[in-house]
Amino acid sequence: MSILRFELLREALGRKAVPVHAENRPADDFAKNVFDREKMQKYLSKHTCKTLTDSIDKGLPLDRAIADEVATGMKQWAIGMGATHYTHWFQPLTGGTAEKHDAFLEPQDKGGVIEIFSSKMLVQQEPDASSFPSGGLRNTFEARGYSAWDPSSPAFVVGDTLCIPTVFIAYTGEALDYKTPLLRSIKALNKAATAVCHYFDNQVGKVISYLGWEQEYFLVDAALWAARHDLVMTGRTLTGHESAKSQQLEDHYFGSIPSRALAFMTDLEHEALKLGIPLKTRHNETAPNQFEIAPVYEEINLANDHNVLLMSIMKKVARRHNFRVLLHEKPFKGINGSGKHNNWSMGTDTGINLFAPGKNDMENLQFITFLVNTMMAVYSHNGLLKASVSSATNAHRLGANEAPPAIVSIFLGKHVSEVLDKLESANTDDVIHFDDKTALKLGVAHLPEVLLDNTDRNRTSPFAFTGNRFEFRAVGASANCAEAMLTLHAAVAHQLKKFKSEADALIEGGMPKDKAIITLIKHMITQCKAIRFEGNGYSEEWKEEAKKRGLDCETSVPLIFDNYLKAEHLAIFEQGGVLSRPEIESRCEVKWETYTKKIQIESRVLGDLAMNHIVPVASAYTSVLLDNAFKISHLFPKEEAEAMSRQDKIIIKEISSHIDFIIQKTAEMTEARKMANTIALEREKAIAYHDTVAPLIEAIRYHIDKLELIVDDRMWTLPKYRELLFIR
Ligand code: ADP
Ligand code: MG
Repeated sequence: MSILRFELLREALGRKAVPVHAENRPADDFAKNVFDREKMQKYLSKHTCKTLTDSIDKGLPLDRAIADEVATGMKQWAIGMGATHYTHWFQPLTGGTAEKHDAFLEPQDKGGVIEIFSSKMLVQQEPDASSFPSGGLRNTFEARGYSAWDPSSPAFVVGDTLCIPTVFIAYTGEALDYKTPLLRSIKALNKAATAVCHYFDNQVGKVISYLGWEQEYFLVDAALWAARHDLVMTGRTLTGHESAKSQQLEDHYFGSIPSRALAFMTDLEHEALKLGIPLKTRHNETAPNQFEIAPVYEEINLANDHNVLLMSIMKKVARRHNFRVLLHEKPFKGINGSGKHNNWSMGTDTGINLFAPGKNDMENLQFITFLVNTMMAVYSHNGLLKASVSSATNAHRLGANEAPPAIVSIFLGKHVSEVLDKLESANTDDVIHFDDKTALKLGVAHLPEVLLDNTDRNRTSPFAFTGNRFEFRAVGASANCAEAMLTLHAAVAHQLKKFKSEADALIEGGMPKDKAIITLIKHMITQCKAIRFEGNGYSEEWKEEAKKRGLDCETSVPLIFDNYLKAEHLAIFEQGGVLSRPEIESRCEVKWETYTKKIQIESRVLGDLAMNHIVPVASAYTSVLLDNAFKISHLFPKEEAEAMSRQDKIIIKEISSHIDFIIQKTAEMTEARKMANTIALEREKAIAYHDTVAPLIEAIRYHIDKLELIVDDRMWTLPKYRELLFIR
């Protein structure tokens, strides 16, 4: 083992769990660092507090008349929490979050300083953020972007900084972030869904969208991580042979959590709870050193802020425990990657979950209506939904043999499938009949009972119905959930609107309401059948079958992005007021550009690893073998010497053929990058990177991994999979 690797291993193995000292029980600290309603009541006048909470509940913009008092109260609270700075916290298209800290402190003309935080500072800021990607919407030399407070997500204190959740938009009003279109999509869905709810209950005033995310991640020892340039630079290992034992024994999943990891989780949970993130679940995941963390579901805008916030705290807390957290979708070849399961449902302000079977037939018809419309939306926009979760990093996960394929389908489970099949084949008039009390009777199996048993799970499905919600599992671990969810919202909102207008037309034509609804549902069940798949999503047969069914089976990420610009998909964003055409176009530019950059960086890092680490080490080992063979030939008679050095020679030849390949292909890869870099259009450039550069990365890796198996372990400098994955 190389001295460096040996030292690193010794360091990693010598670590103990870092003890976590907390003064309070986590529950006592819940939301301690959040300017929530309790603090509003304490720091704001009654009138201001009510005006603010009303506007939050109704989703209205902040009343400027109270902004000064809100800012003053918030500052007072934040200073009491030890804050000296404030920042507008937003979610640019680069991923992650952005913040620029300004001090409260303001020097005075006559000397001295005071701490100020005005309503202007709270409500609107103009960060000089001209280098965030905008896909051409905002030329750096002209209009700048500005950030504006989103009062529906409460402010919070991290360290010495008051963070104010904001949207980030161009001066011309276009969205430059994830939050803005997510908020617009919530509005669109609320409008469309509330209108449909009125068929069943006139009391419904609002439909709320909920998200419960499950976040998967890996932990790697900090010392070993630092020695892996690929992990440092790209978040994934670009080389590394599978270890003899990986996940085949399934002994890590749900096993007892290793003590160092548990200390990290305990610390993380406490930090997150202080920020009001309602974490609930933690466990080991399938792969070694892979874990999952999940909160209780919340309103989607807040849930998403909490996910983005958690991802950034995870990184900080991991350092305290001498770990690095990997959020990349596929940090290691040959074992499971990491995703984010987005559990999604819609609920009314009257307390009904629209994806849960109800107490009576009317509620069940409402449930079926929302279920089938969602299926129809996912069917009509399956390619677009795939685009919304696609990225250079998630491409390694989707379609690999341990994650949903790059095809969107819906799993319903046996019971719901049966109910829908029965409905489809039943005569509409038989389905509806009225009993003595003229209450609607659905002539289908009693839903509440059958759905009680929702243990029916299919882990291979990218979009599964799980009893009272849908679980969108194709989302990447490092992604901002908003992209997938706003796309889903736009699609479902569009579908519900279409359904409403078709139902209204039938009703106006004289058909009874229930019959109109059931007629349309039956029709949709037939139409969207292709999206339903209950089998093994990992299988080759499914890929064949999906193609026949006309589902989007494209696997090239740059081409998958084209879906955004197809007329039928663009329409749902435009008509729902979620994203305009220029916004979509610019976001696509950013997607292609980001794709290119990720592959470009990987390719450069691999080139460096190959030429500066792998080839020199392999050559050095060859030279040891050559030396040996040479000495043998001098010391022993010819025939004996031949026999004694035969194996050495075989290995020498094998190594040099791998080295040859690696050197040649690395040069080819550099040429391919150069060619691709001359392309001006982002889309074409991304395609070139996908078609010409990415395959070479894989090809070179194959030979490097072969070398890892041959070269003397003492000489190999890079920490191996068995070390990265099993030291904890
Ligand atoms: P699993 O899918 O692994 O069994 P859980 O049952 O713990 O996981 O739920 C996963 C996530 O789904 C949690 O965040 C949970 O709060 C959330 N969830 C549960 N019910 C709903 C719902 N009706 N709408 C949205 N999310 C929900
Ligand atoms: Mg789940």
